[in-house]
Amino acid sequence: MAGKKKILVVEDHSEIRRLLVFFLKQMGYDAIEAATGMAGLAQASTTLPDLITMDLGLPDIRGVEVTARLKADPATKHIPVIVITAYYGDEQLLESVVAAGACEVLYKPVSLRVLEDSLRRYLAAESHEEPLQQSN
Ligand code: CA
Repeated sequence: MAGKKKILVVEDHSEIRRLLVFFLKQMGYDAIEAATGMAGLAQASTTLPDLITMDLGLPDIRGVEVTARLKADPATKHIPVIVITAYYGDEQLLESVVAAGACEVLYKPVSLRVLEDSLRRYLAAESHEEPLQQSN
């Protein structure tokens, strides 16, 4: 089990959350979930996941704020946050998300291939897969 990366899914829509968790597990990751911003913050600080996927429209505090709080906390600021949102084309929102410290923004519906590529990019340093070959 060594090297299995843990991903925290912050998403209030239960169907989407369940699907994301399902696919992340299929991809070989360990997935945990939170349905609210506050739960996400609590989960992040107690479990210290390797990466967080963040919905923006949450029932309590918005994903932008959750991201900003994660990035302001020395314990969690190193964790990459990938925002997954349906708010396509909102430049101001995009700017605030980037300013909050998110490393990437993906738009719903997210293709699994795009998601997997993105996850690999941020988890590449210690991939759960053995490298096929190493060349020097
Ligand atoms: Ca939502």
